[in-house]
Amino acid sequence: MGIPAITPLEDGIMSAEVDILAMARQQLAVATGHLNLDGGLHQVLAHPQRALIVNFPVVMDNGEVQVFEGFRVQHNASRGPTKGGIRYHPHVSLSETSALAMWMTWKCAVVNIPYGGAKGAVRVDTKKLSRRELEKLTRRYVTDINGMLGERSDIPAPDIGTNAQVMAWIMDTMSMQVGHTVPGVVTGKPIELGGSEGRVEATGRGVVVALEEAARVHGLDLGNARVVIQGFGNVGATAARLAEEAGATVVAISDATGAIYNPKGLPVRELATKYSGHEGGIREYQDAEKVTNSELLELDCDVLIPAAISAQITADNADRIKASIIVEGANGPCTPEADAIIGDKGHLIVPDILANAGGVIVSYFEWVQDLQNFFWEEDEVNVKLKKIMRAAFASVEATRVVYKTDMRTAALIIGVKRVSEATVRRGIFP
Ligand code: NAD
Repeated sequence: MGIPAITPLEDGIMSAEVDILAMARQQLAVATGHLNLDGGLHQVLAHPQRALIVNFPVVMDNGEVQVFEGFRVQHNASRGPTKGGIRYHPHVSLSETSALAMWMTWKCAVVNIPYGGAKGAVRVDTKKLSRRELEKLTRRYVTDINGMLGERSDIPAPDIGTNAQVMAWIMDTMSMQVGHTVPGVVTGKPIELGGSEGRVEATGRGVVVALEEAARVHGLDLGNARVVIQGFGNVGATAARLAEEAGATVVAISDATGAIYNPKGLPVRELATKYSGHEGGIREYQDAEKVTNSELLELDCDVLIPAAISAQITADNADRIKASIIVEGANGPCTPEADAIIGDKGHLIVPDILANAGGVIVSYFEWVQDLQNFFWEEDEVNVKLKKIMRAAFASVEATRVVYKTDMRTAALIIGVKRVSEATVRRGIFP
């Protein structure tokens, strides 16, 4: 399956015009080939079970009505309720949301938690909304997709453009509609509403556990490693701080407005507290060179953590990527063509469905705590997270060796195998 060309935006960022669903299906085809899966089963796994498109109105602060398009996609529920974030971004599409839902299915299976995959999205630029408009948009979107959601059926979580406050509004909206509080209907909530300790940092923490394991396997001393991170949001900023705590030097970071680079290292905590989210953003920091997001990817470094959006490393730039280890914080940052080019160089990609699984692992912990009304301390959460991440990394690495393949294919082999076994065991109704 061919993948269309990418259109660079003004600031050098790639747009979401890559056919992400074709990319996810291409990855699935490789795994089903290794597993020798039946053609019918392959077809089942290549399609989402359910997808809903909603177009809903919101009365904006100026009194005008604006219509927004949203989606919720459930890919496969064979192993349990579906689970997946809600993204607010101006470039999302149904097919991208379907790909993200499919990756969630494999991700939950790779780390062996009892969920299928889902994803939701609204085409919106949240920077253009007031807080009140954001709340109204969230409550209306959730009401329009509420037939799909439920603590035993489909459980959203934060993704790009959404946060704990948005999850609180989702929980409240769902609770209003059933007449009692339902904390387990969404994860990534504020602690005081049944959120889990450690959830906010979970994805970035898991990314750094994956990085530590990858460094060990690849013989890289993290104490001397230079790390470049694209995206300085929830995942990127946490990964930056924890990578620094693990001994590495973070030499470049970026957000949607561009990147900053200092080969001697950047003050990660200061950037997170004093620059990110403030007027002018990280590029206001003076002791660094300003570069574009495309240039950032090609900087001289040992580790690259793409933690922003999909399709950033492609056939166009893969041969110029210098990092010997790429840990995918974002979903789908490398295209299959890029995988091949980077693999040929002997460099390692720790794939998204393993590397960024920390978020869904702690979401699972949050859901379990909500259902039991019994809450854990942060240490317990972090220890359990690390244990699952390490075990999953080890099983992917072992599978990679057995199948003589790369880590992405190995992770997909594990995920697709577990999901296909559950699908076959359950059988086809009626
Ligand atoms: P976020 O909204 O908190 O941060 C996103 C960051 O990326 C911001 O710094 C933003 O400025 C930057 N960004 C946005 N568009 C960009 C572009 N076109 N080019 C470069 N940078 C851009 O989101 P997040 O929760 O940190 O998620 C980041 C990635 O990690 C996404 O791909 C998401 O699907 C994935 N992910 C997130 C979680 C989670 O728990 N939050 C879990 C698994 C995977």
